[in-house]
Amino acid sequence: MNYNKKSIEDIEVAGKRVLCRCDFNVPTKNGVITSDKRIVAALPTIQYLVNKGAKVILCSHMGKPKGEWKPELSLKIVAARLSELLGKEVIMAADVAGEDAKAKAAALKDGDVMLLENTRYIKGETKNDPELSKALADLADIFVNDAFGTAHRAHSSTAGVADYLPAVSGYLVQKEVSIMGKALANPERPFVAILGGAKVADKLNVINNLLEKVDTLIIGGGMAYTFAAAQGYSVGKSLLDESKIDYCKEMMAKAEAKGVKLLLPVDCVIGNFPNPIDGPVEVETVAVSQIPDDKEGLDIGAETAAIFADAVKNAKTVVWNGPMGVFENPTLAKGTIAMAQALADSDATTIVGGGDSAAACEQLGFADKITHISTGGGASLEFLEGLELPGIACLEDK
Ligand code: ADP
Ligand code: MG
Repeated sequence: MNYNKKSIEDIEVAGKRVLCRCDFNVPTKNGVITSDKRIVAALPTIQYLVNKGAKVILCSHMGKPKGEWKPELSLKIVAARLSELLGKEVIMAADVAGEDAKAKAAALKDGDVMLLENTRYIKGETKNDPELSKALADLADIFVNDAFGTAHRAHSSTAGVADYLPAVSGYLVQKEVSIMGKALANPERPFVAILGGAKVADKLNVINNLLEKVDTLIIGGGMAYTFAAAQGYSVGKSLLDESKIDYCKEMMAKAEAKGVKLLLPVDCVIGNFPNPIDGPVEVETVAVSQIPDDKEGLDIGAETAAIFADAVKNAKTVVWNGPMGVFENPTLAKGTIAMAQALADSDATTIVGGGDSAAACEQLGFADKITHISTGGGASLEFLEGLELPGIACLEDK
């Protein structure tokens, strides 16, 4: 995939109608936004377009209404918050690309900002229905994608619309693509990747691609136990994807053949999965080869954490996706904290992807010491997998 894409700075936007796909999928509780981080993150692109005198038409999805007009998933609350942040009115359309949106888009003056309703109110959105793509495109002269979090989806508002309009990236997408693209295409070495988390089946596929690129691959978190099984250990009640044991054996052989250092846990913290997740839990640390049948591995052990941190210390590029343990529980967060600390202490370019890994870095107070925390969990993972992201592939090459 070509990562060298045109951005809003490479196209004339003054006086043009610009349809900008944002990620306004904000968390809410009882109709109130609980974090406006994603709205704030979109401001540089929106402000640039406003300053240049574009007629700005914003769109986004929120939640999963699946083609139903669910009022609790209306973007009206986003329009209100965005108005406050921009210090100017954000005109709210009553529909996605229907009569009201058309009329309001046509009436925009240079520098005006409007927001369409939740794109997933329309069934065609997630099916990349050309009818919706065309209707969206008819509102505007230029398409800007600034939603990295949905860039791995081929939906009407993320990719389909680019069939009908010149398409470029906004600042958020540009930053993601340039930092992660460089890390993968031309990394400063040693290049260390760390994988963890719970989505074992998803993430196991990333390993194959990363082994082509990295000098060291570190595996922790829930996915480490399928590797432990591949090493011939019994893993008790730990997370295990039995169908992938042979795959893990293949990956161990591939690492060896390529001269890639594959670091697996040597010890782990075991117990019974806490309920609630942040409730009390009784734990002990054992060698990975000694997990009893009635216990599960819930974090990497201290010896493993030291080995992993040491590998990070000498790296020039580090990519991290997935916590080392059940970090939501303070007793089981130590391995994740140790890795976050190692990244924070390192002079390397450090990139964190994955929703929970990003949350862990933020909660644990390491966010400002990381070079780049990706805004897209699934998207950053597919990026690491070497897959083409439709929301980026559809943009014009430089
Ligand atoms: P990300 O969102 O960063 O991509 P995942 O969603 O794959 O990461 O995984 C995050 C989840 O993995 C967390 O909720 C964490 O509690 C869980 N997890 C990590 N290690 C283990 C483990 N050993 N056993 C069970 N769950 C784990
Ligand atoms: Mg997650």
